[in-house]
Amino acid sequence: DVLNTKGNTFESFQLKRELLMGIFEAGFEKPSPIQEESIPVALMGRDILARAKNGTGKTASFVIPVLEKLKPKVNKIQALILVPTRELALQTSQVVKTLGAHLGLQVMVTTGGTSLRDDILRLNEPVHILVGTPGRVLDLASRQLANLGECSMFVMDEADKMLSREFRRIIDQILKFFPQSSGPGNAYQSLLFSATFPLSVKSFMDEHLYKPYEINLMDELTLKGITQYYAFVEEKQKLHCLNTLFSKLQINQSIIFCNSTNRVELLAKKITELDYSCYYSHAKMPQASRNKVFHEFRQGKVRNLVCSDLLTRGIDIQAVNVVINFDFPKNAETYLHRIGRSGRFGHFGIAINLINWSDRMNLYKIEKELGTEIQPIPAEIDKSLY
Ligand code: ADP
Ligand code: MG
Repeated sequence: DVLNTKGNTFESFQLKRELLMGIFEAGFEKPSPIQEESIPVALMGRDILARAKNGTGKTASFVIPVLEKLKPKVNKIQALILVPTRELALQTSQVVKTLGAHLGLQVMVTTGGTSLRDDILRLNEPVHILVGTPGRVLDLASRQLANLGECSMFVMDEADKMLSREFRRIIDQILKFFPQSSGPGNAYQSLLFSATFPLSVKSFMDEHLYKPYEINLMDELTLKGITQYYAFVEEKQKLHCLNTLFSKLQINQSIIFCNSTNRVELLAKKITELDYSCYYSHAKMPQASRNKVFHEFRQGKVRNLVCSDLLTRGIDIQAVNVVINFDFPKNAETYLHRIGRSGRFGHFGIAINLINWSDRMNLYKIEKELGTEIQPIPAEIDKSLY
């Protein structure tokens, strides 16, 4: 579930009571992961570049800080939210209205293809938050119909879609109407949300954002920094081989994968008999016990964890420096989820694959499919690699 959370609460952000009311009336009980990561940082005033999948709650991630920070008594445009389409502008303004229902902040939507005259009339009334598409916003700003000179927050949603070459020029011009800073940094805060991170977004970020706090919840897995080995081992020799690895390697923490729940339990038992500390976890255990095992492993209570593939998604335990495929996975995706790390942590590790006769073809196939190198295991492994 993409909206599943770590247990933080909206109350913990210390928001205005009226804003909390709007949030709860919208039916939001707890912040989603992207909200949890971005809201506190945005409230501190830092620029943000955030990446997260669709449907993870990005809108509220910028709307909540905007609503918290703006001053209802100041009748100026204080926040500009740029979006690529009219539909999205309407949808976003709806979220602003729902979450901000008790704040007395006025939101206006302006997009191409609608009457400019209506916009002019609307701009005679107070507007605190302007939501629009770039062309029309620039039009209003350059005709001095909309004053962005006291706008303290700049938000760009779907930044990857917004920053085509044509839009980029328009947005650069819009920002010239924002308050200009004399010292380091900008006189306004920028929040960029995007699903992907193409060069266009990078270049915009480099030019316009000040020391941006980068959030990446895309959990793209990478094998960078992971040295991968294989050892040809017949089934009967696997345990012996594992024992040798345990005695030779300097394991900080390890995860050992098996392909079935039976084999997980069996191997965990054998490892304990060999006198190494070990937990196990597999799909047939109740969720509560799995959570407990995972939590305690993360805290470093035991050194080794034997598991099946249920655990692989989203594992990012910095202390794990060795991953062992006691059973080789059937496909490249599973391999990547077991061995890969999300790229934001630049840590090192090794992966060791025990390969029996029937796994050989699969080893070559996966190596090729992932465009990676899995080397024969040497007699000694350089400690600097993990
Ligand atoms: P994104 O922009 O990341 O694709 P949206 O901001 O459109 O995602 O949100 C997706 C859906 O999740 C919306 O229906 C929204 O109301 C809902 N939602 C967002 N945050 C929460 C939350 N904290 N709790 C429950 N539902 C939420
Ligand atoms: Mg969105």
